[in-house]
Amino acid sequence: MKSYLLMTLLSGLVLSVPVLAAEPSVSIAFVGDIMLDETPGKVIRSGRDPFAPFATILKSADIRIGNLECVVATKGTAKPDKPYAFRAHPRTLPILKRHFDAVALANNHSGDFGPVAFAEMLGLLERQGIPYFGGGRDLAQAHTPLIIERNGLRIALLGYNEFFPRSFEADTDKPGIAWSEDEQVRLDIGLARSRYRADLVIPVMHWGWEHEPIAGQRQRQLARLMIAAGADAVVGGHPHVIQDVEQYQGKPIIYSLGNFVFDGFTDPDNTTGWLLRMELDRQGVRGWRTVPARIDREGTPHPELQSGGLCWERGQEEATACTVLGLKQLDQNNVAGSDRNQGLMKRP
Ligand SMILES: [Zn+2]
Repeated sequence: MKSYLLMTLLSGLVLSVPVLAAEPSVSIAFVGDIMLDETPGKVIRSGRDPFAPFATILKSADIRIGNLECVVATKGTAKPDKPYAFRAHPRTLPILKRHFDAVALANNHSGDFGPVAFAEMLGLLERQGIPYFGGGRDLAQAHTPLIIERNGLRIALLGYNEFFPRSFEADTDKPGIAWSEDEQVRLDIGLARSRYRADLVIPVMHWGWEHEPIAGQRQRQLARLMIAAGADAVVGGHPHVIQDVEQYQGKPIIYSLGNFVFDGFTDPDNTTGWLLRMELDRQGVRGWRTVPARIDREGTPHPELQSGGLCWERGQEEATACTVLGLKQLDQNNVAGSDRNQGLMKRP
C-alpha cells in the first residue's frame, strides 16, 4: 500500500498534476437482535463466547453495530404484563465490547426491567466503553445521533423503536428509548447533518410484525420518509425473521436482519439471520452484502458461507445472489481493513 502511494505521489510530481486524495471508504457491519439473557447468558457465564464463530467476519469491518435486545443490569423489576422480559448480567459486556463498536438500544426489550435498570445499563455501557444510540437518560439524548468517525467520514447513527410498549420511551425527565414519530425523525436526520456535521446518516429501526417475511406498509412509508429526509440507508430488525430489501432513490433499505444471538427458536425462518456489511463513501452506500447466519440451539450464530447472501453495488437495479467465494473471503483470517475489503464487493 505504501509503495503504491509513493508511486502515485512520484508520478504526480513528474507530471506536475495535483495528487488526488483517495476517496475515503469505510466498511460497517450490522447484526440483528442480540439477547444476552437466557441460554446465551449461560454460554457467557460458562466462559464461552456466542459471537466467536462470527469473530473474523465482524473484525473485518471498520465499524460493528448490533441491536441489544435486552437490558443489561442488576436492578429493576420485570414488567408484569410482558410475556418475555430479558435482563442480562453485566458480565456479558466485555464480550459485547470485544466484537462491537456501538449498540442500538431502541427496541421492545431494553425497558423490560423499568427505567431504573435502563439507566443502570447506560452507566455500565459507558464504563465498559460501549457507545450506544436510540436511548438515553432523557428524551433529548435518546434522539441525539451517535457520530462515529473513520477514515475521515463522519457517520451518524440514529435508533428508533415503534413496536409496543411505548412506555419504554424516554421523556424530558425519564431515561428510555427513542420512538419514531415522523416529524421528529425528519428533524433528527436534518440535525445529524447540520448540527452534528455528519457525512452519512443511517437510522436503525425496530419495527414490523413478528414472523412476517415481507415488510409492511408502515415500514415502507417510514423508510421512504427517512431517505427523503436525507438518510443514506435504513437498517431494521425485530420481526425475528429476515425480510425483503429494496432501494429508494438509490438508497438501500434492509427491512429486517432477523435474529443474531437469540435462543428459544426452532423454525428455520427464525434461526436464520443476516450480518449486513456495507461499504460507505462520501456519496453514501457504495455496496452492501448479507452474510447468512444459522443460529444453533444455544442461540449462537454460525456463518452460512455455502448458502449465499444478497449482494448489491451502486448502480445495480436489484440485489443479486452473492458468490460463495466472496462470502468465504470475508471469513478469511487475513481480511482486515477497508483497503483489502474493497474488492470483496466485486463479483467476477
Ligand atoms: Zn424486538
